[in-house]
Amino acid sequence: MTRQLIILLIMCLVFLSCGSNRGKTRTTGKVVVSVSVLSLFHPRTLTVRVLRGTQPELLLGNGRILRGSMFRINISDGKKLAVVSDDANGEGREVCLVTPAGKPWRGEFVLLVPGETERKYRGELRVVADDGNLVPVIRLPVGDLVRGVLASECSASDPSVFLRVQAVAIRSFILASRGRHELADFCDNTHCQVWLGSGKTEQPFREAAEATTGIVLTANGHVVPVPYHACCPGVTRTPAEVWGKTIPGITSVRCGYCDDARHHVWTWKVTAERLRNVLHESSIEWQNESPGKGVASVRVDGSLLSTEQFRMKLGRVSGWNKIYSNSFAVSISSDTLLFYGHGFGHGVGLCQEGAKAMSRSGYSMNTILNHYFPMLRVEYR
Ligand SMILES: [Zn+2]
Ligand SMILES: [Zn+2]
Repeated sequence: MTRQLIILLIMCLVFLSCGSNRGKTRTTGKVVVSVSVLSLFHPRTLTVRVLRGTQPELLLGNGRILRGSMFRINISDGKKLAVVSDDANGEGREVCLVTPAGKPWRGEFVLLVPGETERKYRGELRVVADDGNLVPVIRLPVGDLVRGVLASECSASDPSVFLRVQAVAIRSFILASRGRHELADFCDNTHCQVWLGSGKTEQPFREAAEATTGIVLTANGHVVPVPYHACCPGVTRTPAEVWGKTIPGITSVRCGYCDDARHHVWTWKVTAERLRNVLHESSIEWQNESPGKGVASVRVDGSLLSTEQFRMKLGRVSGWNKIYSNSFAVSISSDTLLFYGHGFGHGVGLCQEGAKAMSRSGYSMNTILNHYFPMLRVEYR
């Protein structure tokens, strides 16, 4: 009996020791994710220029190999790619860069959409033909994507504590919401998170991403896809108010730190006729929460939109610098509309301007995260 107890005790100690090691080992940086890039440009022609790494080969879907350091890829009939390299050409449904041993090639390269953009990336590359467009998909470690999104969202001169707070939010979103797209885990625009490539490598971004490796926000043991936005309207909004859905542990908090930010208060003046023309709609009616209060919803040609849906609808056709947020009131004088609003962005989760101001006032990363996410835990994974 005593012997059985000793064996049980040893087994418990082994289990507990494994558990504590598991808690301390930061494994999330090694997770690899995929991102489809450049979709905003609907590329039909793409140039791949290899910058660094052993010379790759381009593997066509049919097993054919092209060699070179520059490949030009075109859509040939909507479903196929035509590829031209330094000295040969070929066709296939998809292509990827491989090593001479046939393994996925990982290195640094530039993707160029002629007349549109040129961006530098580091990772593995696959290009797929989809619906008449080329879809480049890049696989890279989570840590590299955190740094890249951070460099796309923030400035290297932002306070270092704020950069760490933002890195934790970015990592939490990535780890909690893989598989958002058919061809890749994420896209590179605001639908997921903005990623403008691996070209910006300033020290503050590297430092913030590395110092927070493995740190995420959790609720009930699960990583939470925490949203963030530029500036809240004074009180952050709930996912239910803005998107009609809940996100575990994301609630509304009084911010108190972004009152001096540039877009904390904004106005926009437009004639009703101009607004109808921009939106290609014949009637727009404003429905207030109560007389004299802010707009609760907008009836556009009979369809009832939330203020967030209206902001997105206008932003897509007219840019994001007209109606900055979903918290606004409208006053009407003859045919002129005056919008008076607060905040920039959807208003849910982390208020970037507030977090920057808290950083400048000397608050720690954990204090800032606890302020905006009082129901979440800061954890190592
Ligand atoms: Zn997306
Ligand atoms: Zn705020």
